Parts: sequence; C-alpha cells; structure tokens
Amino acid sequence: MNGISPIESLFKTFDETAAILQQELSCTYLDALAETAENLFQKQVLQENMSEMTKKRIEKKYEGIQLAGLSKEEIRKAYQLAILKGMKENVQPNHQMTPDSIGLFIAYLLGKFMKEKKEFALMDPAAGTGNLLLTVLNQWPDKKIAATGIEVDDLLLKLAWCGANLLEHSVQFYNQDALEPLLVDPVDAVVCDLPIGYYPNDARAAAFELQAEEGHSYAHFLFMEQSLKHTKPGGYLFFLIPNHLFESQGADKLHRYFQKHAYIQGVIGLPLSMFKNKQAAKSIFVLQKHGEKVQAPKQVFLANMPSMKEANALQSIMIKIDKWFLESKYK
Ligand code: SAM
Repeated sequence: MNGISPIESLFKTFDETAAILQQELSCTYLDALAETAENLFQKQVLQENMSEMTKKRIEKKYEGIQLAGLSKEEIRKAYQLAILKGMKENVQPNHQMTPDSIGLFIAYLLGKFMKEKKEFALMDPAAGTGNLLLTVLNQWPDKKIAATGIEVDDLLLKLAWCGANLLEHSVQFYNQDALEPLLVDPVDAVVCDLPIGYYPNDARAAAFELQAEEGHSYAHFLFMEQSLKHTKPGGYLFFLIPNHLFESQGADKLHRYFQKHAYIQGVIGLPLSMFKNKQAAKSIFVLQKHGEKVQAPKQVFLANMPSMKEANALQSIMIKIDKWFLESKYK
C-alpha cells in the first residue's frame, strides 16, 4: 500500500468520483455520492448521458477497489466520512448522522439484551443515512437480523439504501413519514436516534396518546409511541434522547404512558464532552414493552458514562452494565 489506509483509499475513491458525478449530473455532492456507491456495488458506471472520456475517468478511479477485500466496518467508515463531507456543504441540524461512538454503544447494549436470539427483527424508524442501523448490523454478523429502516427524506434514504447495498445487508427501507401508518410487522427491537422537535401534522398527531394538549406535538414523543406500537410484547427499545426529556412540557403524560405500556430498564447519560453544550447532551434510554411474562426490573439502571479517555471509570461502568443486564435477565 502507498502509505494510506484502506479506509482513506476507499474514501478518496468515493470523494473523487462523487466530485466528477456532481459536476456531470449537476447535482449535490451527497446525491453524487449515492450514485457512485451504487456504481461500486453494481461494478459498473450506471449513469448515462456522459462522455466516454468521463466514464473512463470514473472507471479508472474504481480500478483496484476490491470491496470484498475490505471489512464491512472499513467500508462503512469510508462511506461515512464522505457523507460527513457532503453534510458540511449542506448543514441541516435535524439530519445529523448518529456518531460512531453512540452507534457502537447502542449496538453493544442491543447485543446484550438480544444475546439469546439468533434471529430477530429490528427497526429504525428515523434511519437517516442509515449509519446507526448499519453500525448495529455490522456488529452482529452472526445473527440473522431482519432490519427495517424508515426515513422521510428521500436523499438520506437513498444514501442509507446504497450504504446497505455496499455492506450487503438486506434492509427493508420505506421512504415515508414514520408517524403515518406503517406496513411493518411488529419487531423484537427498535433503535432510534430520535428527531427532536415539533411534528407539524396536527391531524395525524391526533391519532396518538402522546399528542400535545395544545398546539403542535413533540415528534420525539410520537416516535416513541409509534415505535412501541410496532414492537412485540417483551421487545426492547433503545432511544437516543435529550437529557432534558423528562423536564419538557408534557413529560408527566409521557411518564403515565410508559407506566401503561413499558418498563423503563435504564437511562445512561453519555459523556458531556461528546456534545457542544449541556443543553445538547443526550442519553440512551432503554425500554422493554410490557408482555405476558415480562416483569418490571428490580431497579432502573441509571448511570453516566465517563469520557472514553477515562479507562478505569469506563471499565467500572461496563462491569455495572453487565450486572444490570444479568439482573434484568434473571430477575
Ligand atoms: N440514525 C440516523 C443516522 O445515523 O443517520 C440519524 C437520525 S436523525 C437524528 C433523525 C432523522 O429523522 C432525520 O434523518 C430526519 O429526516 C428523520 N425524520 C424526522 N421526522 C421524520 C418523520 N416524521 N418520519 C420519518 N423520518 C423522520
């Protein structure tokens, strides 16, 4: 190798070919990135209406890229770097990709709770670029996971779909408002980096118990309700929530809703250093849907993750998480 890692080398290919396609197709970098990802997956330049010379230039850049020789994590990371570059051009605060450290931690927790299942159905109702869902799928290659991703933004969904193809994960994607009725059978687990803010469709919000008493409802409340509706009894849900969730307006209703439908298993605060400020800080919220043989946990697991740099503190919290998991399993 010429001194650059496989991730850098694949990123360079994505980046350079996306730049050519962006110009050739007069589209955004992210649109062009999805196109080049699909080319790599299909092993051919699929776009028409371009000169032979441009086609050859792109093909030349694909030469030497053997996806089969790379790990799925290498491919995901290279693709993610290119998506991040494209997102910088076009900043949309509500479309931010779930960072790796959070995705990996959610994957770890999910693996603990789903340890005994060889096969299960998983849904991300706000799939975005697919980074969170694909991170989780990459972490559990030995499990047969029937994954579903829903996303309202068609460009993000296209990126997610092309990413899943590149990684050879079979994911059922739906390009729709996830708060409208879903054609998804109940799943065993949900992962979701919740979109935070108001849901503009009051008429649709009226179908939810967590609808606001007045004005627009919170999309993140409705997403939790929709997710629970589409989870099997006893299934687990892993949400990325703002730390101030239970202090927001309507939080008492949210509490009552959970008492009726699910057990709160744990709330794990992520290190503050991961966020711009205290207001932006988030936690991972773990719920289990009520079911026939499902019992409340003896104790809700509440902890704050130390910074990733504090090795000892990190180890001690991992031991506590293992204990929590065992207690919740054999309560
Ligand atoms: N996990 C994603 C990733 O790794 O890219 C990021 C999720 S991002 C925080 C929240 C996503 O929810 C955004 O992509 C946004 O477009 C989507 N979203 C917001 N409202 C939605 C709705 N009503 N239905 C479906 N998706 C929605």
